[in-house]
Amino acid sequence: TTTVEFIQPWTQGADGQGATKARELFQKVYGLDPQGVWSAPGRVNLIGEHTDYNAGLCLPIALPNRTYVAASPRTDSRVRLVSSMDPENPVQADLDGLQARGVSGWAAYPVGVAWALQRDGFPQVRGFDLALASCVPVGSGLSSSAAMTCAVALALDDLFGLGLGGDEAGRVRLIQAAITAENDMAGASTGGMDQSASMRCRSGCALRLDCRPELDAMSNVRQVPFDLQSAGLELLVVDTRAQHQLNDGQYDQRRATCEQAAHLLGVANLRQVADQVNGAADPPSALAALLEQLPDEIMRRRVRHVISEIGRVDRFVEAFGRGDYVLAGRLFNASHDSLRDDYEVTCPELDEAVDAARQGGAYGARMTGGGFGGSIIALADAGKGSDLACDIAERFASKGFKAPRALIALPSSAAARES
Ligand code: ADP
Ligand code: MG
Repeated sequence: TTTVEFIQPWTQGADGQGATKARELFQKVYGLDPQGVWSAPGRVNLIGEHTDYNAGLCLPIALPNRTYVAASPRTDSRVRLVSSMDPENPVQADLDGLQARGVSGWAAYPVGVAWALQRDGFPQVRGFDLALASCVPVGSGLSSSAAMTCAVALALDDLFGLGLGGDEAGRVRLIQAAITAENDMAGASTGGMDQSASMRCRSGCALRLDCRPELDAMSNVRQVPFDLQSAGLELLVVDTRAQHQLNDGQYDQRRATCEQAAHLLGVANLRQVADQVNGAADPPSALAALLEQLPDEIMRRRVRHVISEIGRVDRFVEAFGRGDYVLAGRLFNASHDSLRDDYEVTCPELDEAVDAARQGGAYGARMTGGGFGGSIIALADAGKGSDLACDIAERFASKGFKAPRALIALPSSAAARES
């Protein structure tokens, strides 16, 4: 029978595996002890996909898999960086005179965070030495990029005494710096869910994130209990290892179509019409009437996904909250089918993995993250995850796909100092 690699998260804490790996890499490369170690998690989004940039709702949990950053401040403007992914090749940058897109490669993410904080009114941010080690799968739709930028943001907050990490409003400013780093320095479009998840999730909870720009830090999130263990459930994550590349223009095209549609409908964002439709006495006919106002079939399908997906978030919260896991699973399925048929961001590997999980007895399964590759999640009875992962691996072998890998997700905690 087929076996599947399960990715084990590293242990946290000052003497945990994560802090130790980051610290040892720092010592090896720079010959000194770091001033501290910080970490931030990757995430999976339970439901509410491609809604963040439409001012919609989403529902991420933090993964137990985290990125660990050992760092010390410098008094000049130089940045030295090394990653456990490429430990023999430290890289350097300079914050002085740095422009958008002025750093290439992975260094753009951490350097971009410092650059964004400086521009956001924190000139006390200077150069730094940094070593990072991660057990978040990279490029798998589990947000290794936000795990990295959020760990760095929290490190810089402490190293330079910005005082932002201790409360929600401060964390929102760190989130903004992480988003700016990704958008403007790394050149990767991001809608903000990943960074909010990494900075604001709580252990045992899903984060109901309301992305309306007019909301403040106190009113845009709600912690929703998501206790899989006492529900007798397991959340399986399977990385399909299919190429996930949001930079090839598809993601930006989807965003542009949504913006055009909002413009045609005379609203600032699709959330404004989503609330009308989902709150109508007869949502399907309200949706049909709205879609009639749009000029082409593709745009109608894109909008139908966004509006129906925003509506599914609170239905999922409600169903899970009262223990209706069958309905919760059906909402996962409806989300995936909408992403496949209307939004067209899945790929054969995602569709096959979801199908195999459903056939194997999951309550429901869906792609998670931006799509075009990356990972799926499946909601199943406790103890079923590894069987489902094997089913998916067998399906992949029969299709000639790469062997997938898996992890069991438990809702974990936000970015924090480790030592
Ligand atoms: P995802 O966030 O889903 O993992 P992205 O394409 O958004 O995928 O981000 C992946 C990129 O982030 C990598 O190509 C690399 O540039 C950077 N990255 C993430 N984690 C690390 C790491 N530990 N070391 C070096 N670069 C990293
Ligand atoms: Mg990312």
